[in-house]
Amino acid sequence: MAAEFQEPSKKCWNCFVRLPLDVTVCYACKKKVGDQNDHGIAEKPFDLLGYILAIGSMAGFSYYMWWLFNK
Ligand SMILES: [Zn+2]
Repeated sequence: MAAEFQEPSKKCWNCFVRLPLDVTVCYACKKKVGDQNDHGIAEKPFDLLGYILAIGSMAGFSYYMWWLFNK
């Protein structure tokens, strides 16, 4: 029986431990896990603060480049 392979599961994006689909925190590494992607890997959940910081640093860098070349 290949039931184990058909059982819905996702893999932790950090340590690749197999987890049930409804789990939101990895048992093994305690990282937050999101929904599985096309590869069956549970993706890192959307991090709003990280997203804002990334946009902010990009905007800051763009402004710096603009400032550098428009003096
Ligand atoms: Zn993990």
